[in-house]
Amino acid sequence: MRMLIMGPPGAGKGTQAKVIAARLGVPAISTGDIFRANAAAATPLGREAQTYMERGEYVPDEVTNAMVRDRLSEPDVTAGFLLDGYPRTPAQVDYLDGVLDQAGHHLDRVLVLAADTEEIVKRLLLRAETDGRTDDTDEVIRRRLEVYAEQTAPVLDRYAERDILIRVDGIGEVDTVTERALAALR
Ligand code: AMP
Repeated sequence: MRMLIMGPPGAGKGTQAKVIAARLGVPAISTGDIFRANAAAATPLGREAQTYMERGEYVPDEVTNAMVRDRLSEPDVTAGFLLDGYPRTPAQVDYLDGVLDQAGHHLDRVLVLAADTEEIVKRLLLRAETDGRTDDTDEVIRRRLEVYAEQTAPVLDRYAERDILIRVDGIGEVDTVTERALAALR
């Protein structure tokens, strides 16, 4: 199974990605987590990514694409993967298609977690208190939602055209949403 999990910031992608990937027996790959780990370790990649992340902007496609290409060349993804938070721009969609195509692969499913804006802002502000993510401030949350609408919403259309998009209501208990998602994927 080669799949993506998409949805606006705060829809619960990260949480669901880990659980669903474990249930499917594939690794969950979160570009946000990789950027955060690099930022925490102050690597050159992390230092560059940090300047975008703290403003709620996307890290440039070239940087993100190269990082994903490297990650997808590791041996644990041969049987499949669940990408969380990538692709987020049409250029990233094209790039990922190219990487998969070269390996003779394609995407099987794109799972979209739907959640309305009010619920999302509430969740993200709550997460700010528990996780201490520096990009979970009121102002940056708003910018992240804008960037999502501008740059990532068109990505959903691309996958809908291919008939691989599955939308699931992301509101509810974690377990409920997981079961909903797995049922929709079956
Ligand atoms: P996330 O944890 O998925 O919400 O990502 C946190 C931040 O990492 C985003 O707001 C972006 O700054 C950066 N990021 C993560 N994934 C991508 C991507 N596919 N393209 C560009 N920037 C990304």
